[in-house]
Amino acid sequence: MAAHFDGKTVLITGAGSGIGQESALAFAEAGAVVIGIDRSSDGLSRTGERLEALGARFEALTADVSDEHSVAAAIAKAKSVTGRIDCAFNNAGITQSATLTADLTLEEWDRVMRINVTGVWLCMRAEIKLMQAQGGGSITNTASFLSYHSMVMQTAYAASKVALVGLTKNAAIEYATAGIRINAVAPGGIPTGMMAQSLSGLGHEQENAARQAIADMHPMKRLGKPREIAHAVMFLSSDEAQFVTGICLPVDGGWSAL
Ligand code: NAD
Repeated sequence: MAAHFDGKTVLITGAGSGIGQESALAFAEAGAVVIGIDRSSDGLSRTGERLEALGARFEALTADVSDEHSVAAAIAKAKSVTGRIDCAFNNAGITQSATLTADLTLEEWDRVMRINVTGVWLCMRAEIKLMQAQGGGSITNTASFLSYHSMVMQTAYAASKVALVGLTKNAAIEYATAGIRINAVAPGGIPTGMMAQSLSGLGHEQENAARQAIADMHPMKRLGKPREIAHAVMFLSSDEAQFVTGICLPVDGGWSAL
């Protein structure tokens, strides 16, 4: 059964592309007012066009989730849209350059951690305070198959996504009696801008081979679709999941079972 979000306000970070954009669309189709945060105003405009075509209400906020002041200002503006945020999807994230552990620079390490871990915590901090004041809410963070698996030249990214699971679980138990549920979703390989970026630099044939190799790592032998992640996020955000908190739900065609 599809969850219904009529009368709900949903905040999505990284809403300008990929999983975040598709989730914005899916929540809007289910009746939600969607507030999208992204550092790319062009990406947000594209998301806005897709939601406007549905006749949905969409508010775009350009902000950098890794910047404390930018997050504080964006969450304050988000609150002013309908007066509350029922569900937050902290999904903005970046990949790392393909680099072996010993060759990573501190700058690259910090760049990945700053957005993928600190950025999610900064958003959660503001969202939890707002949800405490309004009497509850639900938060979902985007982890990764690399929260469970390993991949060469992805140490910083994988470390950030393992940290995100710890952040999710620890915060979840702190606010379990406050009506605030906090979960994560761990996507498998999804063909988005992030995947294109991580394969950029390869020739056309090599890129296709790399995509197929990633698809073959999933027991279902295919990549996932952004909408398949959106549906899992909608379940975790919905009242149907009201006894679910502190989990990281793999949505990865069986990869986590290997
Ligand atoms: P994407 O690149 O298509 O979208 C990410 C969005 O986040 C972009 O619009 C980007 O502008 C935004 N963003 C990045 N840094 C930001 C910042 N500092 N402030 C605000 N916005 C910022 O990638 P995607 O695949 O849709 O990724 C979404 C999430 O899914 C990420 O957290 C990623 O790590 C995770 N994930 C992706 C895959 C995959 O295979 N694509 C697999 C597992 C997990």
